[in-house]
Parts: sequence; C-alpha cells; structure tokens
Amino acid sequence: MIPFNRLRIVLAVSEAVPWFKTGGLADVTTALARALDKQGHDVTIILPDYAAVRGSRSSLLPEVTNTGIRFSVNMVGETVEGAVRWAKLPESRVKVLLLAQGRYFNRPQLYMEDGVGYEDNCERFCFFSRAVLEICSQMVLRPDILHCNDWQTALIPALLHSQFADRPGFENAASVMTIHNMSFQGQFWHLDMPLTSMDWQYFSMHHMEHHGDLNLLKTGIAMADQVTTVSPTYAKEICTPEGGCGLDGLLRHRRSDLTGILNGIDQTIWNPNTDRHLSAHFSAGKPQPGKSVCKEHIQQRMNLPVRSDVPLFGMVSRISDQKGFDLIVEASDRILSQDLQFVILGTGDLRYEDQLRRLAERFRSRVAVVIGFDDSLAHQIEAGSDVFLMPSRFEPCGLNQMYSQRYGTVPVVRRVGGLADSVTDTDEETLADRSATGFVFGEYCSVRLAETIERALTTFRQPAVWKQIVHAGMSSDWSWSRSAKRYVEVYHQALERRHERDKDGRQ
Ligand code: ADP
Repeated sequence: MIPFNRLRIVLAVSEAVPWFKTGGLADVTTALARALDKQGHDVTIILPDYAAVRGSRSSLLPEVTNTGIRFSVNMVGETVEGAVRWAKLPESRVKVLLLAQGRYFNRPQLYMEDGVGYEDNCERFCFFSRAVLEICSQMVLRPDILHCNDWQTALIPALLHSQFADRPGFENAASVMTIHNMSFQGQFWHLDMPLTSMDWQYFSMHHMEHHGDLNLLKTGIAMADQVTTVSPTYAKEICTPEGGCGLDGLLRHRRSDLTGILNGIDQTIWNPNTDRHLSAHFSAGKPQPGKSVCKEHIQQRMNLPVRSDVPLFGMVSRISDQKGFDLIVEASDRILSQDLQFVILGTGDLRYEDQLRRLAERFRSRVAVVIGFDDSLAHQIEAGSDVFLMPSRFEPCGLNQMYSQRYGTVPVVRRVGGLADSVTDTDEETLADRSATGFVFGEYCSVRLAETIERALTTFRQPAVWKQIVHAGMSSDWSWSRSAKRYVEVYHQALERRHERDKDGRQ
C-alpha cells in the first residue's frame, strides 16, 4: 500500500548541524528535515555519534540522552555492539538518533586526520549503514522512505533491496539515494566486500563492483528506487564523462530515475537580521548601517586596514582542488595589484594552505587567511564582505553563494553545477530586468577569473548599480519549502517503483 499523506521518512546521513559538520551536507540534512517536518511528515535523522567531536562543544549543542537501547551487527564473524542516543532537532518535531560505537566513531574527526582518510572507513560506514536498518527494525520505525546521502550510507538501498526486502517493517519501504558530490565514492578494495554482508553475486559491474573494486556510491545509485542530486545542472553534468567521475554510464542508464533538486538554505540559521554571530543586523529593506558595521568588524578582526571604500572579498571553503584555489593562486598577482582586500577562511589541502599563508605574508595589508573551521567567523565573513568568491572547478550545489546573496554579498562564481542555477550574471539585459545577482565566468582559467573580478570591481565603483545587484540577491527566495515539496514528489516516485518491483517479483 502506498501512503499518500504523512510519510515516515528516515534520513540516514553521516553529518548534521548543529552536532557534526564538515561541509554542506550537514546544513542540508537539518534544513530538509525541518522543511519536511513543517509539511507534516514524520522525520527521523539517524547519524553516527562522533562522541569526542560532540564532547568538545557539548555546552553549545542540544542535549543528547541515552535511550538504553543497544544493538549489534555481525561484522564478518565479530559481533559489534552499539548504543542508541537521541536528541530533538530544535524548532521542530524531528527526532535525531545518534548511533554510538566507541571504536568506530569516538575519534577526533569524522572521516580523516591530517588530510588522510581513516583506514577503516569502509568498515565504519558499512557498520553504520547496516545499523540504520537494524535500528529501524528494533525500534519499529516502519519507514516509508529511507533517504540515503552520499557513499557513507549508500549501502542501505542494496540491503533494502535484498536482505531486508521482506523483513517486517520494510515491506513497503523505498529508498532514495542523494548524491551530494560525485568525487567521493567510497571506493575500497574488493576484499572489503564481506563487510557489506551482501552476497558476492552482487559484486558485478551492474551493482557494487567498479574496475575490480567495491564502490559504495555506485551501489546506492544502482540499487536505490530513485536517485537525486543537489541541482538540475549537476544532474546533467554527472551524466557526462567529464562530470560523472567514472559513473556517467550508470547515471545515463538511470536517467529517468534521476532528479536534480536545488538545495535551499536554512533561513533560521542564515538570516542577517537575527544572526547571533554578527555585531549588527540588517535586511533587504534596510541593509545599512548594519552591513557596514559588519564590514568594519571583520576588517578589525582580521587586522586589515578599516576602510569602507575598499571592496572586501571573502571566501569560506574547504580548501581543495574542487574549489578553484589553483586559479586564485595563479591569478593572485594580477588580482592583488588592485586596491582590494581578501579574507579567506578554510582548511584542507596542505599545499594550498601553504600557498595562501604565503600570499597573506606577501600582501599583509590586503590578504588575511585563517586556516581552520570556524562557524562563527564564516557567518561574519558572509556578512562583512562585499564580494564572495567561488571559482569552483565543479560544484554540485554550493551553499555559500546563496548565503552570500542573503547577506548582501555579491558572488563571483564559475558557471557550473548549482552555481549556474543560483547566480545570474550581470550584463545589460539582466541589469535592465533587475535579475542580475552576481558575476559569472565560464572557462576554468585564471585569466577569466581575474577579468570577472575586474568586472565586479568596476561595478562596485557605481554605487547605484551595486545597490541594485545587492538588493536583487537579498530579495531572492532560497527557502527550503519548494525543494522539500520536490523531494516529496520523488519519495512518491520511489514508492511507486518499489510497488512495481514487488509486482514484477510476484509475477
Ligand atoms: P561543500 O559541501 O562542497 O564543502 P558547500 O558550499 O555546499 O560546499 O557548503 C560548505 C558549508 O561549509 C558552508 O556552510 C560553509 O560556510 C561551511 N564551511 C566550509 N569551510 C568552512 C570553514 N573552514 N569554517 C566554517 N565553515 C565552513
């Protein structure tokens, strides 16, 4: 039977704000859960309990309580036990179950230390994925939808398709696999296959095997009832050899089950009128003086000359090849020969971190770099900057370009993935119809980036035009409600598909 109104949705995911975050996935999980809850659905988030990470910030987080419920998973002959803790997602009815297993999850970081992934990541997340289904069964959650996110939970559709298909509580359950980034696939050597508990018959090119290895993201894409990704443009890009990271053939095969849904932003967290990290507040209707106060504050905090006339460029990002740091370094002499300031917050690839530190030493009065992860500073950079840089090589959705627009900070972006879907380039036509919200370039090349930054600088010196672009960005609608409705449509398509599969199986 296919339910039509209130769906029971389990969101299985490896990170969620406010507890654990390394990137956009954590923001998206919570915001989508809240939006689905608002639309009347019953939502449970299940995530690993990285107890040490939580412990270091516990006074700032919603309380987590022991449930007394324990579970076990047989990991290749060894019975590994875990415990269920729970919390309530603030300002919602969403339940959050945190699966605790000290050996796997009580570590300083989520996935890696010093740029190197934990050696047993396959084992950790196979355990987690299998535990999600055990918990659904043990706690009688009876999900209609298991919504899985990225490779860490991509084994779940395969388990649901096979061992759990007829288990009580899963008779009608369907799976949805969301790809947040194709470049992380959870690819491991074939001898990890037993950790998945799947039969070796699935170790084929149509399911779990990829060039001789076990590939968890491929597993999820191949076996989920529906597949989504985080923007319409990225959905097209991943079906091409350039964007598909080796899985484009499979994605083309599943094209009719693949939907691109642009992420929204959590407007309770990202709102310049209420943001608790800011020293002044502002809105589309009244951007000043709040925005200027925030600019002054960030200049002071970063030890840059406090000047209102100089354009301040900001960047908050994982420091990786994906985000265009090679272009920035290559174009830095040309960019920094201009009268501008540049504030960067990020952490990741050690090579780029070094190059950025050196830039800050060379251009002391223009460039400030903070290496690290600092949520509060991220909000302050969004609010205090005039321009936000995202020259990404690829970008599934990207959130910062939307946060920027909301905070009156004009994005300079490459026309790729979700950036193409959320920033409108400034030209005669878009200025005339008032749709211009940023500056966009196509070719991945440092000269194009420098030219586009120069275009932004020229426009910055025309206050009336700049004000119009800022206003258009600040007035855009990035709420989750529209995207959440699209997800619900996809959930229903997944349920139909599960229904059809069962019918076919019976015939
Ligand atoms: P991705 O998920 O590829 O890292 P997104 O733009 O989708 O990129 O999301 C990144 C999220 O992580 C944003 O909310 C951004 O503000 C945040 N973020 C990235 N790096 C840092 C950092 N060093 N400190 C604080 N927040 C960060």
